[in-house]
Amino acid sequence: MEGPCNPAPMHESMEIVFLGTSASWPTAERNVPAVAVKRGSEILLFDCGEGTQRQFQKSKLSYMQVDKIFLTHLHADHFLGVTGLVQTMRMNERTEPLHLYGPPGTKELMEMLTSIGKSRGGFQIRIREMTPGDEVAFKDYVVRAYEMRHTTYALGYALIENDRPGRFNKERALELGVPEGRMFGALQRGESVTLKDGRVVTPEEVLGPARRGRKVCYTGDTVPCEGVVEMATGADVLIHEATYASDFKDANLYGHSTSQQAAFMAHRAGVGRLFLTHISPRYTNAKVLVDEARKLFPESHEARDFLEFVVKFPQDADAAPAAEAATEAAKPPTG
Ligand SMILES: [Zn+2]
Ligand SMILES: [Zn+2]
Repeated sequence: MEGPCNPAPMHESMEIVFLGTSASWPTAERNVPAVAVKRGSEILLFDCGEGTQRQFQKSKLSYMQVDKIFLTHLHADHFLGVTGLVQTMRMNERTEPLHLYGPPGTKELMEMLTSIGKSRGGFQIRIREMTPGDEVAFKDYVVRAYEMRHTTYALGYALIENDRPGRFNKERALELGVPEGRMFGALQRGESVTLKDGRVVTPEEVLGPARRGRKVCYTGDTVPCEGVVEMATGADVLIHEATYASDFKDANLYGHSTSQQAAFMAHRAGVGRLFLTHISPRYTNAKVLVDEARKLFPESHEARDFLEFVVKFPQDADAAPAAEAATEAAKPPTG
């Protein structure tokens, strides 16, 4: 792990792939919770319900690229998939360490679950327990834990990219005598350059103000709470549980949210887009959930298994709406 000071790369791809969108148990259409975020060549997995490895097989993603798994809480529908996934990684001779994060209690539980059936091979499993406010810093982004409110200790997670360098002012660079080529690239990456005559040109002289990176938030299971608003303020994407429609009066009693409440959180946090997930098996058609959410927050969308969504840089968000709409169509299982 490195410090958080590196700027986010200018063109790192980021895509969300929903691998499980059901609450409590799987249905014919939905598996139990798992959300993959593919960023560049690595995959971060948020929750890992039973059968997540099979969902990987049906998606375009490779489970071998999973580097980090973040568990929101220790209800079985959110973590039972770790055992099988790790077992398969071992049999495929994975050597890279796997990082597991979760609330207090994760270490003991995961040490037990990942030792089941351990017969051959091995890679390191590094487990870290998180509490609200904790942050793990990677090369050019962080994942921060937030307090959720559920029937057990529960965390939400935000993936927050570091700021990107500001826009490069080519004319200014040429005026200052910087030759086109290698030095342009260095300045764009935030490095100073020394010209042939010994003068030093700093990035501040040729770059505009830093631009924020992308931010994706995932609640796991929760009633609507301030932790969500804090976590999701300014996020590009909020993935919020919406177990029930608002006519189900016991939603909050069971530690869950209605889709209307999820939409209200998205509205308050000012997010770009809301995905409703953790849909109760009682809904064979989630239209009722989406319809009530859209009345409050028009950018509400149903998360479906294998739905893919490309997260664009904030400034690029409205550059190609047609392409974005195309990527959003749920791909049918391929395997
Ligand atoms: Zn759940
Ligand atoms: Zn739960």
